[in-house]
Amino acid sequence: MNEISEIKKYAKSHQVPIMQDGGIDFICRYITEHKVKSVLEIGSAIGYSAIKFASCGKDIFVTTLEIDLDRFIQARQNIEDNGLSDRICVLNEDALKFRTDKKFDLIFIDAAKAQYIKFFEIFKNNLSEKGVIVSDNLFFHGMVQNPELTKNYSTIKLVRKIRRYVDFLKNNTEFYTEFFDAGDGLSVSGRRNKINREEIFASKKPDSKLNVKLVAFDLDDTLLNDERDISEHSVEVLRKCAEKGIYIVLCSGRAENGILPFVRKLNIAGLQTGRFIIAMNGAEVFDLHKRESVFEEKLGGGILKTVHQEAAKRDMGCHVCDADTIYADRDTPWTRKDALMCGLNFKVVEDFDSFMEKGHPKILIPAPEEQVASFMPYLKEKLKGRAAVFTSKPYFLEVMPYNCGKGQSILWLANHLGIKKIETMAFGDSFNDESMISLVEYGVAMKNAQDEIKEKARFVTEYTNNQDGAAVFLENWVL
Ligand code: SAM
Repeated sequence: MNEISEIKKYAKSHQVPIMQDGGIDFICRYITEHKVKSVLEIGSAIGYSAIKFASCGKDIFVTTLEIDLDRFIQARQNIEDNGLSDRICVLNEDALKFRTDKKFDLIFIDAAKAQYIKFFEIFKNNLSEKGVIVSDNLFFHGMVQNPELTKNYSTIKLVRKIRRYVDFLKNNTEFYTEFFDAGDGLSVSGRRNKINREEIFASKKPDSKLNVKLVAFDLDDTLLNDERDISEHSVEVLRKCAEKGIYIVLCSGRAENGILPFVRKLNIAGLQTGRFIIAMNGAEVFDLHKRESVFEEKLGGGILKTVHQEAAKRDMGCHVCDADTIYADRDTPWTRKDALMCGLNFKVVEDFDSFMEKGHPKILIPAPEEQVASFMPYLKEKLKGRAAVFTSKPYFLEVMPYNCGKGQSILWLANHLGIKKIETMAFGDSFNDESMISLVEYGVAMKNAQDEIKEKARFVTEYTNNQDGAAVFLENWVL
């Protein structure tokens, strides 16, 4: 079929879905006006849209993916008949599995609607610097705006998924999306620039006072300044909160003794509202009045042994700890780093595997950033569903019980104290704070937090950890 009208006729008679004219014209105009040179299409069907895109100019190259073998064969034939085989590369691939390093100026998503978010997340890394992702069928024949148009259960489910995709695009802080009333509803998403993102983070603040009864604080880079201290101003604000009846909970990756100096500095341990701390990233909730753990989660000896052996294969040390001592499998500047940072004792244990048999709340692998970055994906895969693997700092790889994190422990403590979730707040900056930022009602990221954490957080502080960011936020919105 080398006449485009014949391809359309064939599509109609064989019930192959292809783009509406309005949508095709919109994208072709975009290709010409923005001098697009390379296109990746997810969902070729029989090659109709790919042929239209490639026909916009002699220097345009299209890669298009089609999962269905019969459609792929037909698409290849149509492309050949139109003399475009040298500029359109059609591949019989499942886009959910296909990976490439190539960059494209325009990525067009026009395959299984239910998978749009996945396609977006997979292929966003293939965009050239100013590239855009275009998505089709966002109206889904008018049903997205008017759901009553269908009573069919699977169509209703699909419509819901498209709506979820539209929300995903609207709330995306990494990409900015414009929606167009062309064809069956199109969107064009481009990467936000840094300034744009900063503006969004700056706008993440409450519009009225918040009613909270429990506030949790990560320590490093959150409540602590870069001198690893709590400023006098922060001490004053946190004490005021505690005296007002708000539980102040220090919640750190550190062991109990690494947290206690800061409880002393705040001088709140004598109060009911200052009696709890959360240690080891949520694996332990400690009651300072009773001097005992009220909640504890542990990794079993088997998992600890696996982590130890995998780290050792890569010549990396690891350690576990209790309230005041770090127990390492070897003595290196790296295994000593955490003990030095948190003021804990340091001991090397000869038979490390036997030592770990009874289980521990967490195991930590301290190593140079590049080694941590390359080991983490392997370990995550190996322990999938059995343990949580994450970095608390780029050079600290941590393994903890699955589904146990700061967020889960804060909610456990809130429940233990009869405090509702809607009365909980937490401040954090890093990946080990992700669970608390997402699970509590008011997750607050520090101005100096990782961008991913700021994206997840409901609010972002106006000031950094060195400018009493958390204390100022509490003064403005809680006290
Ligand atoms: N873009 C085409 C056009 O306008 O000429 C129409 C594409 S049609 C709406 C969607 C196509 O995506 C179908 O042919 C379907 O087989 C294909 N598809 C669905 N899931 C896919 C996947 N995971 N990977 C690749 N293709 C997929």
